[in-house]
Amino acid sequence: MCSSNKLKFILLNFALILVFNFASGQTNQITVRFIGNCGLYLTDGNSNIYLDFPYKSGAHHYMEYNLAELDSVKNHPVFIYTHRHSDHFSGRLVRKLSKKLDGQIFTPRNAESLKKLNTQLKDFTIETLHTKHQFSFNHYSYVITWHNKKIFISGDTENSDILTSLKDLDWAFVPAWLVRDAMEKKVKLQDISKMIAIYHVGPRDKITSDSPEIKILDKQGERIAIPY
Ligand SMILES: [Zn+2]
Repeated sequence: MCSSNKLKFILLNFALILVFNFASGQTNQITVRFIGNCGLYLTDGNSNIYLDFPYKSGAHHYMEYNLAELDSVKNHPVFIYTHRHSDHFSGRLVRKLSKKLDGQIFTPRNAESLKKLNTQLKDFTIETLHTKHQFSFNHYSYVITWHNKKIFISGDTENSDILTSLKDLDWAFVPAWLVRDAMEKKVKLQDISKMIAIYHVGPRDKITSDSPEIKILDKQGERIAIPY
């Protein structure tokens, strides 16, 4: 085979592999899409999880979102909330969507029932951590282990002590004030999690990072891929 034929052969194989992977829907990655505030959409291609979404768009002067986001919610959605403040939660919107799309809703009031997801979803466990947030009696942070990837969802908690009980995280989604608290207490986030995403960035916050392990989620619609 001359070299150009060889190249064609390789390219053809490559195309076939791509087509095959595409057709089988086998992506082997968790995709996280940032919607706004602490609103995230997580999917492994089979299950669809929404964290702190839908919330009340623009509440407390935080991020608005395009209403098309509500129409793009997938069938059988799992809605999980850290707490019920309106920049994270809209009871009206989530009940409507859940009814229409045959979903499940979990807030701190029924966080106990989250256990059932451990059997419903493939390679999935969720751990609930009762954490503190000013003006909210009921606030939970979560550690989601999905396809052996460990993802920490902090919500609005202000106290970084919770982080010291965690280790071997792949991704930690935290607000900037938790990062500041951790720095003041000399808690090294990079020792706890391989990657850190800073979310819930406010309109007046100016946050920059030159560290490749820290991603600032200030662009709505941005995606993070977590291969497994
Ligand atoms: Zn908030």
